[in-house]
Amino acid sequence: MRLHQIGKIDGRRSSLSLEDLPLPEPAAGEVRIQVHVCAVCHTELDQIEGRVATPLPRVLGHQVVGKVDMLGEGVDESFLGQRVGVGWIGGACGQCRWCDRGEENLCPDFEGTGRDLDGGYAEFMAVNADFIHPIPEALKDEHAAPFLCAGAIGLRSLRLTGLNNGQVLGLTGFGASNHLVLALARAALPESPVMVWARNPDQREQALAAGATWAGDTFDDPPDQPDAIIDTTPVWTPIMEALKRLAPGGRLVINAISKEAVDRNRLAELDYPAQLWKEKEIKSVANVARRDISDFLETAADHGFTPEIQTFSLEQANQALNEIRSGNIRGAKVLVI
Ligand SMILES: [Zn+2]
Ligand SMILES: [Zn+2]
Repeated sequence: MRLHQIGKIDGRRSSLSLEDLPLPEPAAGEVRIQVHVCAVCHTELDQIEGRVATPLPRVLGHQVVGKVDMLGEGVDESFLGQRVGVGWIGGACGQCRWCDRGEENLCPDFEGTGRDLDGGYAEFMAVNADFIHPIPEALKDEHAAPFLCAGAIGLRSLRLTGLNNGQVLGLTGFGASNHLVLALARAALPESPVMVWARNPDQREQALAAGATWAGDTFDDPPDQPDAIIDTTPVWTPIMEALKRLAPGGRLVINAISKEAVDRNRLAELDYPAQLWKEKEIKSVANVARRDISDFLETAADHGFTPEIQTFSLEQANQALNEIRSGNIRGAKVLVI
């Protein structure tokens, strides 16, 4: 399912087209993966609608689980037949200052799977063998797939909050990623109260059922001021509201590749005394490092995390994207190839 042209997703046109492509040949250092499943990410909406620049034509998809079925030159034989996953990070230079200190997600040569190389909305894909992740046996294909992006970036976001057990965590938005952040927080910070803001009452109920201490609408005051807040919404308002409710010395971590609004790339006007004074910080999360992916997979297998999912066939990729666009985001959408 390939993207040829940028345009609005409105249900009237098909964003991606089903095509027969030649089987990818793995280059030196690469493996070919026979794709079992690929989960659908909100970033794909950003790519299709042009907020995340993508060289075209391109096969999207960066939450891929499959089996290695062919090796390029120089790749260790042991990879053949392994069940592996590919996440958003599909390449980095390995030599720059960011790669050196393990922050390969910030590498100037960072390659996004399904953006800079063809991804998993396909029967086969080729990828650098250094950027694949063995899938723990305890995880089913369709459950592991959404962990590769939403889970990994959720873990990175939680890490970037710098929270200690017992400190108050806030989450704005309760989609796939913050759902997994809540599960992670329950495991890693069991004494930390978690406050969730979500516009959708269903999501607020899901948050409470999943162990949140409190859930409210975007403009509601929580019973306790969070020491850190993770934002996963695609818009600005929740950020402006979250900053007001952040505790002094607190940090807002924004996990969004872009923001949908007229002024999406400009910080809206801040009320300095209410929103930044008292040593409040704002930090964004960019991409993921390999460690975020492998650590999340391990944690998920250890704690038996099971995401709520909804499956589609590869041919139904447009339908899955349309449903996300129209706000039907109950459960991660997974294409079963
Ligand atoms: Zn993603
Ligand atoms: Zn680098």
